[in-house]
This record gives sequence, structure tokens and C-alpha cells, in this order.
Amino acid sequence: MATVDLEVRGAGVFGLSVAWACARRGARVRVVDPGGVGAGASGGIVGALAPHVPEQWNPKKAFQLESLLLAGGWWQAVEAASGLSPGYGRTGRLQPLVAGGEALAMARAENAATLWQGRAVWEVVEATTGFAPLTPTGKLIRDTLSARLHPAHACAALAAAIRAHGGQIVPTAESPHKGPVVWATGWQGLKALTRQHSRMVGAGIKGQAVLLDFDARDQPQLFVDGLHVIPHADGTTAIGSTTEREFDDPTGTDAQCDALLAAARAHVPALAEARELRRWAGVRPRARTRAPMLGAHPFRTGHFVANGGFKIGFGMAPLCAETLADLILDGRDAIPDAFRPEASL
Ligand SMILES: Cc1cc2nc3c(=O)[nH]c(=O)nc-3n(C[C@H](O)[C@H](O)[C@H](O)COP(=O)(O)OP(=O)(O)OC[C@H]3O[C@@H](n4cnc5c(N)ncnc54)[C@H](O)[C@@H]3O)c2cc1C
Repeated sequence: MATVDLEVRGAGVFGLSVAWACARRGARVRVVDPGGVGAGASGGIVGALAPHVPEQWNPKKAFQLESLLLAGGWWQAVEAASGLSPGYGRTGRLQPLVAGGEALAMARAENAATLWQGRAVWEVVEATTGFAPLTPTGKLIRDTLSARLHPAHACAALAAAIRAHGGQIVPTAESPHKGPVVWATGWQGLKALTRQHSRMVGAGIKGQAVLLDFDARDQPQLFVDGLHVIPHADGTTAIGSTTEREFDDPTGTDAQCDALLAAARAHVPALAEARELRRWAGVRPRARTRAPMLGAHPFRTGHFVANGGFKIGFGMAPLCAETLADLILDGRDAIPDAFRPEASL
């Protein structure tokens, strides 16, 4: 096997994105994952790249904004290198405007005009028929920052892009790598860090989702009553997700998917007759801070961590990857303090 500059443990969206960011800059990379590409939380079906509420600004929100704005060109480059579509589209989002919520929505619209620097809008619009949620006020909140991709397709595209740049993706490491190693090992990685530390560093939060045979590919995604309804470029529509702290089977689905589907149909009449294609479950990596965990490994000298994507891992992955590549390859450290692994120790 050819020598490599960087080894990445974990072929989820975090590991693959770091490997891609480094390979693109000329590094020789090897990704190691016994489960293969997208074996963990990243191999799913939901893929909302949706922003925070534009208020109470903080470094995490600023970083997320930059990552969401970076995403279009970033995924385009992945598609160009791989010949595979990640299913990215900045198609926006609609949410119902709840009764009595107009003043708050208008205040957020004003905030967005400043905080999002004119690069996206948050506004109140009249409700439309067709692919839209029911709304008690006859109005909807619309934003143009939200985008979507198809998680499993995005991982496949990243893997192909890495290989196209000469990178390797293998199930086992041949021998201990002498250079930098990035641990992007998802919730199992957070468990391992917790074992190496004296208290909880992070945990896995299970989620289940449902995929429907419903083609709304050019329509905005919907966010209603905590549900994400995501029309994909391939003519499917995903509904997500449950949030489960306790679970025995990390990838099993159960009656909670029936509840997701019933709620989606109640809120979005257009989905009433849509046929169910499949159900999916995975475990999100949540760091103690709930922020991404990025930077020098706290217990392994010369190693790094890329973890903690939790519910917004796909939205954060592009900038997390570029920021870690800056540190590893160029020694440039622009990691927000709240993201450093020690913040979760
Ligand atoms: C139901 C559901 C819906 C979601 N919806 C969204 C959404 O709409 N938008 C969004 O942005 N995010 C969403 N997420 C969250 C997103 O999927 C995660 O944040 C993201 O996938 C985390 O990526 P990761 O690479 O850190 O972890 P993972 O994808 O879990 O990857 C970790 C990898 O490490 C491997 N591994 C473990 N131990 C080792 C080891 N010792 N050596 C080598 N490899 C190892 C595993 O096999 C796995 O492949 C959702 C998650 C779920 C479960």
C-alpha cells in the first residue's frame, strides 16, 4: 500500500469530509472503517441542511451559517470529482406560522436581514396550496438558507471523490500510522472518549426516519411540529426523526415510525396517499456541549478528533472539514473555542 500523509478513522460524513478536504489539497489520505462507507449515522435518508433561528447570535450559529453558505460550491466540487450526485439543492424551507407568532416571526425576519448579511432571507408569506404544511394563521415562514442533500448518496459521492484523488478507503489499518490520525468515529468514538476520561464526554442519540415514494424534488423542505419533511432530488421524500436517548438496537425501527408517518400526513395533506418505501435508523453523535467536537485529540498526541455532528452533522461537515484540514496541513488554527474537544471534557 502506498504511503499516506493522513489516516482517518471512520467513513461517515465527518471522516469522509476531512479526508476529501485534505485529498483536494494534495494530501495522500487513507480512510479506515470496518463497517464501510456510511455505516453509521451518515448512511441515512433525511438530510436537512437547515439553519438555526436567526436570534441570540453566537460562534456556533456564525460557523453554521458559513458552513451552509459554503455547502453549494463544496458539494458541487464533490460531484464534479466523483461523477455522483449528493442530491444537494438549496430549495429553502417552509414552516407554519403559529397563532400569535407573527410579531416574533417579523422580529426574526429583521434579525436575519442583518445576521445573514443579505445572503438569505427569513420572511412571512401567504400560505400556498400543494406541497406545504397546514397553517392555523394562513401564513408560513419561509427561509432561503435551508438546503437538502441525500445523506447516503452524499457519502457515496465523497468516497468516490476521495478515490478519484488517489485516496484509499479500507476496512482495517495495516499497521499503526506514524503521521496524523483523525478520529471521526461517531457515537462509538464518544463512548471511547468517555471510557478514557473520568466523566461523560458525549453519547449516542438514536433517530428513526421514513422514506416515501413522493416526488416533490423542486419544492422547499417543510418543518412542522418538530418534523422534517425533505423532498429529495431522486423523487423520494424523507420524514424525520425520532430522538431516543435510551435504545437497545441502534439500527432497528419500530412503531415510532408509524407515529412519524401519521404526524407527517396530518400536517401535510399532500402526503396522504404517498407509499412508504423504507424505514431507517441510526445513532447521532452528541458531544456534551452539543456542539461539534473538532481539534487535537485530548488523549492521543498527534491525533485529532472530528465528531459531535449531532442533529446538524451534514450542515456542519463542509466547514468542519476545511477548518480541520487548515490545522492539520497548514498549522492554521481557526477552531471556535466551543468546538474544541476540551470543551466537552
Ligand atoms: C434519523 C437521523 C436523522 C438525521 N437527520 C439529519 C439532518 O436532517 N441533517 C443533518 O445535518 N444531520 C442529520 N442527522 C445527523 C447526522 O446524520 C450526523 O450528525 C452525522 O451523520 C454524524 O457523522 P459522523 O461521521 O460523525 O458519524 P457516523 O456517520 O456515525 O460515522 C462514524 C463511523 O465511524 C466508524 N467507526 C466507529 N468506530 C471505529 C473505529 N474504531 N475505527 C474506524 N471506524 C470506526 C463507524 O463504522 C461509522 O461508519 C441525522 C441523524 C439521524 C440518525
